[in-house]
Amino acid sequence: MTHDIEDFFARANRHLVQVSSVRDHSARLHEAVAESLEALREAALAKGLPLAAVSGHRALTRQIEIWNGKFERARARGLSEDDAVDDVLRYSAPPGWSRHHWGTDVDLFLDRTDLLPRLEAEDWESGGPCAELLALLDEIAYDFGFFRPYRGECSGYLPEPWHWSHQPMASAWLNGLAALDWPAWLTTRPYRGATSVLGRLADLFPRYVLTFDSPPV
Ligand SMILES: [Zn+2]
Repeated sequence: MTHDIEDFFARANRHLVQVSSVRDHSARLHEAVAESLEALREAALAKGLPLAAVSGHRALTRQIEIWNGKFERARARGLSEDDAVDDVLRYSAPPGWSRHHWGTDVDLFLDRTDLLPRLEAEDWESGGPCAELLALLDEIAYDFGFFRPYRGECSGYLPEPWHWSHQPMASAWLNGLAALDWPAWLTTRPYRGATSVLGRLADLFPRYVLTFDSPPV
């Protein structure tokens, strides 16, 4: 049963292709999503806004490294296990719960040599370097299948204006994810703080996986 979850995510490792990335970065997405992103990139470029990916697909093992690092730093600041989990959850998904595992979700930035790519909300606010890009994406991205799941309205995460999800592909993954045996996997303590997550699974799974901001209608 435990291996079902790892097998599930191993499926996402297939069909990945490189997409246009900002300098020094590399990102891969499912080939169908990559095709849609390229079409969106061309449409944005025609408006004078060169967008590119900062990150795309992320393997389960990589998310475990990221999560464990952040969790350890929170614990080192004196937080309890539960508080450390809550602290990391503000921005990062527990391993297995990140939409980046699917090859359907991408973090975008403006591809300009005078800008340092980083994922900070202030860059996307009015007057920030990515404000114009955000306004354009909010207008046209859904025509290419992309929506913003973390707008700060419903999801448990803080707003992530850089994070875009390919809705038709992502909804199929989400259905599969909800059917997995998370209690069995978490019992094996696959990452730091998993015991805390297991103890609060009924609260955390709906809040951080099933609840996100809907695509436009
Ligand atoms: Zn993201």
